[in-house]
Amino acid sequence: MKPEPGALNLREFETTCSLIYSEARLQDTDMNRAFVIVNVDHQGNFSTFDPELLAVPTEEYGDFVLGNVRHDSLESVIGTDKFQRMQRDMVAGVELCRSSCDYFGLCGGGAGSNKYWETGSFRSSETQACRYRVKTVADVVMAGLERSLGVTTPVATPGATPSPCG
Ligand code: SF4
Repeated sequence: MKPEPGALNLREFETTCSLIYSEARLQDTDMNRAFVIVNVDHQGNFSTFDPELLAVPTEEYGDFVLGNVRHDSLESVIGTDKFQRMQRDMVAGVELCRSSCDYFGLCGGGAGSNKYWETGSFRSSETQACRYRVKTVADVVMAGLERSLGVTTPVATPGATPSPCG
């Protein structure tokens, strides 16, 4: 897809379009797979999953600091209760998404931070964030594609309907 000069490109639309066209389907995301992202603060404390979790103390999980680069390795924190609990809940949340959400292949189970802020646990699925960021965008893109392909009754004025994916 070639960007048109002056056209407004929205990341969420572009991501959804490229997934639809490539027929690729997500199984997870960088945000919910452990150690794809490693977050390190100015004191050397590190965590994983969403970067924004690093600095936040919570009631449910305590803080998300797993260790410190001065004396811990990633391998050394894998067996800790804290990491095991985070990982267990993150995986359970992704599995809930996989088993309940029609949009899973376009999303991969979302971000743990959204789930935590909205539900109090990683062990959950739908959030307001994913309704707006994934589901509504996918619905708009699919409706536009269907109209551009003429597989639904056009609701707008007659004439060719441009594809939302360019
Ligand atoms: S759209 Fe929401 S409910 Fe569906 S897989 Fe993503 S995070 Fe889970």
